[in-house]
Amino acid sequence: MIDNVVIEGNLLNRKFSCDLLKCKGACCSLPGGRGAPLLDDEIEEIRSALPQVIPILGTVNKLVLEREDFFEGERGNYATTCIDDEDCVFVYRENGIAKCALEKAFNEGKTTFRKPISCHLYPIRVNKFGGDSLRYHEIPECRPAVKKGEDENTGVIEFLKSALVRQYGEEWYRKLESISNLTPVPARRALRQGPEWTDEK
Ligand code: SF4
Repeated sequence: MIDNVVIEGNLLNRKFSCDLLKCKGACCSLPGGRGAPLLDDEIEEIRSALPQVIPILGTVNKLVLEREDFFEGERGNYATTCIDDEDCVFVYRENGIAKCALEKAFNEGKTTFRKPISCHLYPIRVNKFGGDSLRYHEIPECRPAVKKGEDENTGVIEFLKSALVRQYGEEWYRKLESISNLTPVPARRALRQGPEWTDEK
């Protein structure tokens, strides 16, 4: 436990590095169920970003956004709308890979909201038990990412550093890093892969 946040099971040792060429961004278009979980505060942040995000989207997404809202559910339990119970309404495709239009607008400097924290943290899921409890969410679509992480010796904690810092802060991340015996990311990043290292997914 770090500052009331429980780190579950094999999260500390899990190797992981998204392999978009293999998974095709599957987590943005998983069939069945709901879209990405949204925090209550994220509804208005996303609404503000919509004028910059909608032009990135395809025709079907735009029609869905005209007919429905971009979210469903009720306070404390919101999620993004899905198209045909599959694609998140904010998915666009680039070379066959499902990507997030919210993140594209952010990366282009058009908005200040990167993407929902639940997506940013994925495949780490947060359970609420008074405090937060973090666990690795295992799905078959991420198997290539586990293999790539093992090949590169990249831990899921390291791969998701920016999301974890966004959610819990730098100091908290440093404590996590120290108990997981990771080499700090900038040093490894420079050694291993140069400037193209990214956690985009
Ligand atoms: S979390 Fe990464 S590896 Fe897993 S489906 Fe999403 S983009 Fe692919």
